[in-house]
Amino acid sequence: MPHSTSPAVIEAIRKAVGPTACISDERDMEPFLIEERGLWRGNADIVVRPTTTEQVAAVVKICAEAGVSVNLQGGNTGLLGGAVPQGGVVLSLTRLNKVRELDAVNHTITVEAGCVLADVQAAAKEVGCLFPLSLGAEGSCQIGGNLSTNAGGVNVLRYGNTRDLVLGVEAVLADGSIWNGLRSLRKDNTGFDLKHLFIG
Ligand SMILES: Cc1cc2nc3c(=O)[nH]c(=O)nc-3n(C[C@H](O)[C@H](O)[C@H](O)COP(=O)(O)OP(=O)(O)OC[C@H]3O[C@@H](n4cnc5c(N)ncnc54)[C@H](O)[C@@H]3O)c2cc1C
Repeated sequence: MPHSTSPAVIEAIRKAVGPTACISDERDMEPFLIEERGLWRGNADIVVRPTTTEQVAAVVKICAEAGVSVNLQGGNTGLLGGAVPQGGVVLSLTRLNKVRELDAVNHTITVEAGCVLADVQAAAKEVGCLFPLSLGAEGSCQIGGNLSTNAGGVNVLRYGNTRDLVLGVEAVLADGSIWNGLRSLRKDNTGFDLKHLFIG
């Protein structure tokens, strides 16, 4: 697979997210290039670990304009090779991991894509709530990955797939714009339910 990211694009990305968010040393990039069981190995020019939605949007915009591929990676626990990069940029959501809001009355939690599932469960438990999504990879997989794969898990028959637990989504589109569909309203009948385009 040819490497396709020009030095100018790499420099623009570094500027957008700061040098500490970027990994380009081959040895340090290794964990982001492989599938855990060793079934697949990919390649990339740089691994980028943004800490805000705006940084994600900036990186996606730079790559879209330059025609560089972006490979999203959460906890890299998916067993189908979807997170294994095929050249270009690895966008790892690991550091986008804040709990933005926890509403014990409304029974809602707003978390960033890189939150580890077990941490979301623990945050809910602390205020006497249950976040019912549970699966073997919960110590490593991230909410963004769970939504992307519409994970089911051990409680799926009672509580549904991940899709059924989501009230709203904030998404960075392929051109780098941000779509804000973050809602915690249960009975939301306004317009099309666009969040489902992003889940699964
Ligand atoms: C031990 C084990 C048990 C499991 N048990 C179950 C089970 O019971 N039920 C079930 O349904 N699944 C199960 N799985 C699969 C599980 O659903 C996935 O591993 C998990 O949801 C993926 O999350 P991740 O953060 O690791 O995503 P990754 O593996 O990093 O990525 C998976 C896909 O999602 C994309 N992606 C990741 N993050 C984002 C994001 N923020 N935005 C857009 N795209 C993104 C990636 O590009 C990739 O295509 C299991 C996996 C393991 C290893």
